[in-house]
Amino acid sequence: MAKKKVYIAYTGGTIGMKPSAKGFVPQKGFLGATLQSFPEFQHPDMPEITIHDYAEPIDSANMSPEDWHKIAEDIERNYEQYDGFVVLHGTDTMAYTASALSFMLEGLQKPVIFTGSQIPLTQLRTDARDNIINAMYLAANYPIPEVSLFFHDHLHRGNRTRKTDADGFAAFSSPNMPPLASIGSTIKVRDHLLWQHKSKELTVRRFASPKIAILTLFPGISDELVRDFLAQDLDGVVLQSFGSGNAPVNNKPLMQAIENATSQGMVIVNCTQCLKGSVNMSTYETGRVLMDAGVTSGFDMTTEAALAKLYYLFSRGIDVDTIRDYIVVSLRGELTN
Ligand code: ASP
Repeated sequence: MAKKKVYIAYTGGTIGMKPSAKGFVPQKGFLGATLQSFPEFQHPDMPEITIHDYAEPIDSANMSPEDWHKIAEDIERNYEQYDGFVVLHGTDTMAYTASALSFMLEGLQKPVIFTGSQIPLTQLRTDARDNIINAMYLAANYPIPEVSLFFHDHLHRGNRTRKTDADGFAAFSSPNMPPLASIGSTIKVRDHLLWQHKSKELTVRRFASPKIAILTLFPGISDELVRDFLAQDLDGVVLQSFGSGNAPVNNKPLMQAIENATSQGMVIVNCTQCLKGSVNMSTYETGRVLMDAGVTSGFDMTTEAALAKLYYLFSRGIDVDTIRDYIVVSLRGELTN
């Protein structure tokens, strides 16, 4: 049987970094050369791989929507030639990029698996080897048609993930959804969870440049701060609220600032600051008032997914009411409602 073919894109991040006087830094060509020298890569069960080291690998703290485009276009260019794709990426913003790519890659029928590591590949106690080998093995042999993220024994839906540990090996979780697959001595895929794209043909949805931002509520937040923030001609805002979607409603000027913004067409999506669970604005008065102020429920979407979804929807040339309608609907499995 012909060997499966997997395309590996190294965008940057700890996984392929090299020690330097300034600390670990990404370096072009280093990851590819290191991987090729590993005996595991000569194993007969390994797929045929192509490694593409990006010209300027970056720490993912520097990722921008421009870089999301580069990754999406790279996958699009190579889509027909490979059975699966592994994107090696820094862990810091991996959940944002995986969320963005889930919206960009419409009609995806092949696995696109993000992974990275907490310790560089060249270091003795590295977690990179396991993450890469498992991600590659899954990409070659399990045709899961999603943008997913593999880290430490679990394959998560990309747009459900959050980086929840700054230094532990189990750095990612998908708090509102079980993993798509779990790896032990056997590989368990939860087939019933896999996303079914309506279209079966890949279309890359490029993002335009809408003005999107995140606003986090905190006890004592002033109405001036919120007013100034919302006065910046924004298209969409992810509002990180308390608990099941609550805000300090006794601060009337603050609530007024929110209502003014939504009535002028700003889309404000309510996501909880809690790691797990969903927004339900009808539970408390402090949530209902937000609903009355024109805020849209993000249900159990992560902030990362809500941000990516706003970029996506504001790039589709649709009106604000339609955007609000789509926010509450699952387009790529990003929410439960
Ligand atoms: N700062 C690094 C990055 O996100 C951390 C990592 O890769 O784990 O690129």
